[in-house]
Amino acid sequence: MTFNALVVEENEEKGVSVGVQQVTKDQLPDGNVTVAVEYSTLNYKDGLCLQPRNGLVRAYPHVPGIDFAGTVEASDDPRYRPGDKVVLTGWRVGETHWGGFSQKSRVNADWLVPLPDGLTTKQAMAVGTAGIAAMLAILALEDHGLKPGDGEVLVTGAAGGVGSIATAVLANVGYEVAAVTGRPETSDYLKSLGATRIVPREEIISVIKKPMEAATWTGCVDAVGGEMLARVIGQLKYGASVAAVGLAGGSSLPTTVIPFLLPGVNLLGIDSVIQPFDSRKRAWQRIATDLPLEKLDAMIVDAKLSEVPELGSKILDGKIKGRIVVDVN
Ligand code: NDP
Repeated sequence: MTFNALVVEENEEKGVSVGVQQVTKDQLPDGNVTVAVEYSTLNYKDGLCLQPRNGLVRAYPHVPGIDFAGTVEASDDPRYRPGDKVVLTGWRVGETHWGGFSQKSRVNADWLVPLPDGLTTKQAMAVGTAGIAAMLAILALEDHGLKPGDGEVLVTGAAGGVGSIATAVLANVGYEVAAVTGRPETSDYLKSLGATRIVPREEIISVIKKPMEAATWTGCVDAVGGEMLARVIGQLKYGASVAAVGLAGGSSLPTTVIPFLLPGVNLLGIDSVIQPFDSRKRAWQRIATDLPLEKLDAMIVDAKLSEVPELGSKILDGKIKGRIVVDVN
């Protein structure tokens, strides 16, 4: 029995070549749960994993796809039985372990979570790693005192995956959301997700002239990093926090320690990859209750396995709006 998988192979001329191939179960990596994958998704990291010399994939041939959702087909672990619906994000699946761009996947049971009540496998993949990271960022901000009614929360890279989910959840639970985008044409989309103010990217990204500016934001979910994050740090209100999720705009952080000392702002690092089971369950639970499904559905762009390589290049260029959901079947 063979099945379809997107396989990346090393290639001397181009570095790598990518295509849909027939694969057998014997080729799947070791693991104690085999899942019939229904949907995967496309994250920024998937775009990287499709590039040569990306620093993430260790061995070829490789099946990328850092997320998947589907139905358990076989399990040697008492927590999962055939027929159970499951979701996987993180744990370096799709990087060091074959991932979700495949009709079947074999993984360690510790990496799975049961599909949360109220979500379909397709909706879970519209959330994916980007959405879980956005939710972990919101939880971290709330754990540091953020609450609705305190003032505007900034979301950077708002039209992307992390930004779209953060905007929709924050607005739905009563926060006032200011959305930073470099794409003015996404304004209506961001307002439909609940943003009340659109902030042009160039208004925030610039060389910092003063380490501290007018105290503007009561919190921030940052998917961009670089000069954007540095500038936001200097614009936070007294004691407020920014959750650093991503580096779509760069990995440098050209700031000073002054905002951390005088107004006592906090920089909260967010990792979605090595999150313990309870933390991932908490995030999925909040997604299930606080992300309006009609807004999630409006973010979805459907894709087939064969379209992933082209979309992978687009996400690295910041040209994807919302969430790509890949139907692997
Ligand atoms: P997307 O490409 O979907 O979104 C990124 C957005 O950032 C773009 O849509 C764009 O938004 C903005 N952007 C892109 N390039 C630049 C630039 N040069 N300067 C300023 N803004 C830019 O990616 P994701 O949302 O999936 O991921 C965002 C980041 O978060 C990535 O770096 C990713 O690796 C990271 N990430 C981290 C996780 C973690 O566990 N910490 C988990 C998931 C993602 P707009 O057009 O609206 O300006």
